[in-house]
Amino acid sequence: MSNISEMYSSMVFNDQVMREKLPKDVYKSLHKTIEAGRDLDITVANVVANAMKDWAIEKGATHYTHWFQPMTGITAEKHDSFISPVGDGTVIMEFSGKELIKGEPDASSFPSGGLRATFEARGYTAWDPTSYAFVKDGSLYIPTVFCSYGGEALDKKTPLLRSVETISEQALRILRLFGNRTARHVVTTVGPEQEYFLIDKGLYEKRPDLRYCGRTLFGTKPPKGQEMDDHYFGAIKPRVAAFMKELDEELWKLGVLAKTKHNEAAPAQHELAPVFSTTNIATDHNQLTMEAMKTIAARHGLVCLLHEKPFAGVNGSGKHNNWSLSTDTGENLLAPGKNPQDNVQFLLFLSAVIKAVDEYQDLLRVSVATAGNDHRLGANEAPPAIVSMFLGDELEAILDSIEKGKEYGAHEKIKMETGVHVLPTFNKDTTDRNRTSPFAFTGNKFEFRMPGSSASVSGANIAINTAVAEELKQFADELERAEDREQFDVILNDIIRRTIKNHKRIIFNGDGYSEAWEKEAERRGLFNFKTTVDALPSYISEKNIRLFTEHRVFTAAEVHSRYEIRLEIYCKTLNIEALTMIEMAKRDILPAVTGYSKKLADTIIAKRGVSAALDCSAELSILEKLSRATGEMYVTISELDKAATAAKAISGIYDRAKYYRDTVIPVMEKLRAVVDSVEPDVESGDWPYPSYGELLYKV
Ligand code: ADP
Ligand code: MG
Repeated sequence: MSNISEMYSSMVFNDQVMREKLPKDVYKSLHKTIEAGRDLDITVANVVANAMKDWAIEKGATHYTHWFQPMTGITAEKHDSFISPVGDGTVIMEFSGKELIKGEPDASSFPSGGLRATFEARGYTAWDPTSYAFVKDGSLYIPTVFCSYGGEALDKKTPLLRSVETISEQALRILRLFGNRTARHVVTTVGPEQEYFLIDKGLYEKRPDLRYCGRTLFGTKPPKGQEMDDHYFGAIKPRVAAFMKELDEELWKLGVLAKTKHNEAAPAQHELAPVFSTTNIATDHNQLTMEAMKTIAARHGLVCLLHEKPFAGVNGSGKHNNWSLSTDTGENLLAPGKNPQDNVQFLLFLSAVIKAVDEYQDLLRVSVATAGNDHRLGANEAPPAIVSMFLGDELEAILDSIEKGKEYGAHEKIKMETGVHVLPTFNKDTTDRNRTSPFAFTGNKFEFRMPGSSASVSGANIAINTAVAEELKQFADELERAEDREQFDVILNDIIRRTIKNHKRIIFNGDGYSEAWEKEAERRGLFNFKTTVDALPSYISEKNIRLFTEHRVFTAAEVHSRYEIRLEIYCKTLNIEALTMIEMAKRDILPAVTGYSKKLADTIIAKRGVSAALDCSAELSILEKLSRATGEMYVTISELDKAATAAKAISGIYDRAKYYRDTVIPVMEKLRAVVDSVEPDVESGDWPYPSYGELLYKV
């Protein structure tokens, strides 16, 4: 297919296809379900299912699958064929409304954090009609939620949909107060920028750390890292370009709006950004994107690394979560307009976001806390572990004048002066960018930069949506009490002024990496959770559980289960990393170093045999260093072995996680340091693994 508009969404059972394939009344009632969240009638479901099946078979499908997002972080699918025997030895292709609406996977091996006892293995998947079904690899994929027999959410979609509902409800209350009668609901929009590394598959296969952990556990910096700034936006290599082209096409067919692609800061690092869509769809599409990246890379002899920190010493990968609010009629509620100082509705929504980020900074931090992301946040790279907001000069000046009750002198748009007359003139953006801010206003949306590259964006958006919904609720409660227009204006002004005054500590426009900011943030009373283990207890704090339960996004039991699951995953990740290190060090690295040491020793003996006068100082000094390191390595391997074993024996999950953070990780770091210290001394052919130089530059 060469025509892109023909290709786009060709494998998606989208609105246009539905309108074409469904009887008018069925289409209408399905649309009502989608728009207004109504329950779906089974007779309608039967018709939809049948139309879906016929369409899917035309697209080459033989199977269907409920597609869901368990707490593992990746998606799950189980395929059933459409075939159904008719008794005379033949089959027909069948798909019922019941099969479309509900699935019953044996869910006992998905993480539930104690929500589902093993004797009660039943789990249900239920069709989410707000995200379109699609055909991929011969199967009809039906996006679904996943919950337990008792109705508790076991996935990342259910609470996200709940958070979308609560923010819509509260935002609508505000809009009504401003006289908006046309909007029927408010959606949150998300555009997740996905960073990733591409490396050669052959080299990848040779590294157990990459295969088991998705990141390197050993390795010294090559002579050249990212210091020349020559990779960011650099020309794309042919092999990578071919990968990107296929990726775009594959994603377009699935209706994913892949838009921007470029090289990122680190060598071998790249980015893909889609055009934003509603949060639910953006989340599903991001999962599809990550999966497509992996499978398509393989077709090009490449491996796509989505880990937050595959290589020490160069940038890790994140996933910038661009977020905004808009009405179903397309009004972006975070667009300041020409005169933001007079746009009180915008200022009110902005205030809600400011208050939400300040009051729930801990929750935002929790939403992105994983073992992998600990290598980015707080580890002196974008962004810091402290949550703060960047608003830019213009908005800050407006807020400042509101707080102080002064007139704001609006400025003319400033023309961009390039000094070259043939170039078209254009207006400057009212604010420069701040690349270090974790939560930056970028003109008509916020960019939450903390999420890790491998994570689902569901968690971050559940936190943002729910926190902002809470603030909008408080504002609406207050504003609805106004008896007339005049009083309304007074309350409105008071809310905005009060919010700025009470929450401006969260606003920071300076350098988020500096030590000075860390001190300043502490003075302001902002949280600074450096690790997942530091952050996670906030998840189950009274304040945060109250937020989630009041907005019906999570029950208390669901929050507790997620807390457990997150700690479990943290511990398991570190256990795998520790064991991988031990295996690599014991079976490959130690033998390689002693092997090379023997070569050196043999050389010394041989040289001495020739003449005692020959200079052996180089061999001796390297041999001495390697021997010392071998001893240290051996001791550290046993130490790590002991620590990993001791960790597993700790029964309390939080204590176990803490032990990994405080005891296991330091020993891992020590082992890495010894190994890395000798890598440059061993003959390259004798080193058991491809070097950083090869991994980062051989595509
Ligand atoms: P940058 O790398 O400079 O931050 P990009 O162009 O790579 O910017 O990404 C910006 C992302 O923000 C895109 O995915 C874009 O679709 C998204 N975006 C733009 N407007 C909105 C909006 N109103 N709501 C959510 N996301 C948006
Ligand atoms: Mg960005």
